[in-house]
Amino acid sequence: MKTHARVVVIGGGAVGVSTLYHLALKGWSDAVLLERAELTAGSTWHAAGLLPLFNMSYTVGQLHKYSVDLYKRLPAETGQDVSFHVTGNLRLATNAARMDEYQKYCGTANTIGVPYRVITPKQVRELWPLLDLGDGITTPKIIGALHHPDDGHIAPADLTMALRKGARMRGADIHEQTEVTAVKRTASGEWQVITNKGDIVAEHVVCATGNYARQTGRMFGINVPSIPVEHQYIVYDESPELKEYRLGGGRELAVLRESDQSYYLREERMGWILGPYESGAPARFADGVPEWFGKNLFEGDLERLLPHIEAAQRRVPSLATCGIKDIVNGPIAYTPDGSPLIGPAWGQRNLWLNEGHSFGITAAGGSGWQLAEWIVEGEPGIDMMAVDPRRYGPYTSKRYVVQKNEETYRNVFVTHFPDEERPDARPAKTSPIYDKLARMGAVFGQRYGWERANWFAPPGVEAKDQWSFRRSNYFEHVGNEALQLRLRVGVIDLTPFTKHEVTGPGAEAWLDGLVANKVPTRIGRIALCHALTRRGGIRSEFTITKVAEQHYYVVSAGAAERYDADYLQQHLPQDHSVHLRNVTMSRGCFVVAGPRSRDVLAKLVDGPLDNTAFPWLSGRIAEVGLATDVYLLRVNFVGALGWELHFPIEYAHHLFDALFQAGAEFNIAMAGMRAMESLRLEKSYRMWGSDLTPDYTPFEAGLDRFVRLNKGEFIGKAALERQLAAGVPHRFVTFEVHDVVDADPLGNEPLFDLKGNIVGRATAGYYGHALRKSLGLGYIKPEFAAVGSGIEIEILGERKRATILVDSPYDPENKDLRA
Ligand SMILES: Cc1cc2nc3c(=O)[nH]c(=O)nc-3n(C[C@H](O)[C@H](O)[C@H](O)COP(=O)(O)OP(=O)(O)OC[C@H]3O[C@@H](n4cnc5c(N)ncnc54)[C@H](O)[C@@H]3O)c2cc1C
Repeated sequence: MKTHARVVVIGGGAVGVSTLYHLALKGWSDAVLLERAELTAGSTWHAAGLLPLFNMSYTVGQLHKYSVDLYKRLPAETGQDVSFHVTGNLRLATNAARMDEYQKYCGTANTIGVPYRVITPKQVRELWPLLDLGDGITTPKIIGALHHPDDGHIAPADLTMALRKGARMRGADIHEQTEVTAVKRTASGEWQVITNKGDIVAEHVVCATGNYARQTGRMFGINVPSIPVEHQYIVYDESPELKEYRLGGGRELAVLRESDQSYYLREERMGWILGPYESGAPARFADGVPEWFGKNLFEGDLERLLPHIEAAQRRVPSLATCGIKDIVNGPIAYTPDGSPLIGPAWGQRNLWLNEGHSFGITAAGGSGWQLAEWIVEGEPGIDMMAVDPRRYGPYTSKRYVVQKNEETYRNVFVTHFPDEERPDARPAKTSPIYDKLARMGAVFGQRYGWERANWFAPPGVEAKDQWSFRRSNYFEHVGNEALQLRLRVGVIDLTPFTKHEVTGPGAEAWLDGLVANKVPTRIGRIALCHALTRRGGIRSEFTITKVAEQHYYVVSAGAAERYDADYLQQHLPQDHSVHLRNVTMSRGCFVVAGPRSRDVLAKLVDGPLDNTAFPWLSGRIAEVGLATDVYLLRVNFVGALGWELHFPIEYAHHLFDALFQAGAEFNIAMAGMRAMESLRLEKSYRMWGSDLTPDYTPFEAGLDRFVRLNKGEFIGKAALERQLAAGVPHRFVTFEVHDVVDADPLGNEPLFDLKGNIVGRATAGYYGHALRKSLGLGYIKPEFAAVGSGIEIEILGERKRATILVDSPYDPENKDLRA
């Protein structure tokens, strides 16, 4: 074995070998893969080999699409067949919400270029003659289906071997029976990877260890939130009916998914493979994979599968006459949200994860493609935030991950409502006033482990969501909360915000080099600043306040805590001129906003709050009521007169009570996250993570006024200059959708010109309660971006007319917030 390599990949499953292949493809042939047993010995060898293109995520959808395309060309490239059966994939729908889900998915598919068809029951029957359409009594009636003609299934071991061949052809090395047992940092900062066959020093290490992810993470001192769950499929004997159909000239049937009964079914040697996603499947190996578990399986648990077997037999009656040959029950890696962990590990330089894959055969190609891009180029080529390992934080305790992963597993096939909030492992992280909010009727959701009030049920209204793709039970109440902030005064608890203190003589220059805007130079000034990727895309959004000399307070999205903390930490100068402190947990945040907010605060704060003494985008350290050291910032994300109060967390109860006492005469009330969504859309405020992503530059996002190209160097500047010279390819727009009955845009819908060509993509949408308009935000080709232009949007399968509005259609002159 070599003693030195540029990169070591640990793990020889489909994912690790694909990573190696793609690194070699990008020219990094000095790459070595280490596998403790033999290639495919982990979950790869027993996978069912399905390659579903269907995925609700914009990012994962692109990774899967790449894989399917790659697997089709691999045999010609490597000479190794991969047994790719392009059977297509048929997902049945037996209720209206499921059809809505498929229609919503079609928007994503359109924006990433995945071919599909929404088909009728008659077409289902033509495609799948052995299937019963259902009578609506014993068997649910099929009302339609989603058909992907281009995917199917593959032999996972053959795929791994083809990738292995491709990697080796380009000079990469693979060592089997080589277990990584420990790692160290060398004096020069490289990784010393210690194995049972000797040591190897590498600049980069990639972990692709499947079920071993947690114990591999421990070697590096990180807690990887991936724990496997049992997954079973049943292998059936030959089916006489299937045989007759096939011998009679019938083509291989599409992989069938009856989502509403939570199973998949595909052909296997004239018989079937049936794979349910059942309730009660336990997480395994939470403390690590035991020594005795090599290329093993668990005992099958037929009882758990019975309801799904019966449902499948009702749908495909001939299944009842087939004998069961085998049950395959193996560990399948999961993460709490079901998406993999692809990208840099946190807190460690040159450590990369490609872990947590529950659809790892499908995702192997795409994940290797983008991870190699990230390692070699320093950045991925597409927006990878949905799979970035740093989307999780320190809250992923073992029990949290176990509970969430079991929940995610049994929910693989549930309808993925956009407002769905799953109940397990909750509440975990709460703001101090959580109980008070609950008593006020809060209906909570969870983000980054935090409980956040989504809306408040008034007295007499059940505090519960009815999840839907359409306007639902909370629509009216969210509207009232939004109007409360437009007309009177409201409070939003934004304690989960990510908060950093940056101090030291080098603070200003350092921050200036990280963001595109000019960092404030005057004490008490606030600037909205964006950290860019080297390609000029938006990676983070920071609200930066100069609190004192050499002291900045930096606020970013709550869900970006680890993502931003890690980035800031990794970029700190070596000369100790800057100190960074994450104060997310020690400061709470309330937004107090609305026309009467000044009146409320005047009762609690000394000193004037008028526009001269306390203008928009300014802040100061204040006493508020009994609370000291409150950062009182005149900013908010709702476009109203208002302040954010960032306070020492111990004052949360006091401040909350004080605000409600002071605000009683103005009918002060709480508002939740959904009201904030409505309000920010009316102001065209871009949201990090949906509207602002690495796929778009600040010029595309219409944030030109937050870019200072003449201020000196910052990351991404060269790319912005190149884009300006070449022409900005998209414009960010706000649009009104006409004739909406009950379904507003939600994001990821395609935008069309009036001839039916796709010319853009929505990134968010909601109802603007003050404007009384159905609103969307998105990116569009510049020629369609003029105010007043007519476009179309497809919402749940229906084309709707839409008109481009002025940016910030509610109060475009910002009179409210500067009042
Ligand atoms: C029953 C079942 C059916 C499935 N069906 C499908 C399907 O139809 N489609 C699909 O897309 N996915 C399917 N999956 C999921 C799929 O099997 C996995 O997502 C995929 O195999 C993960 O690949 P991987 O390379 O990440 O992990 P693995 O295949 O588990 O590989 C990890 C490798 O790392 C090695 N390793 C670990 N620690 C070390 C160390 N310290 N040193 C050296 N080597 C180490 C292990 O030996 C192992 O070979 C199924 C899973 C199960 C259980």
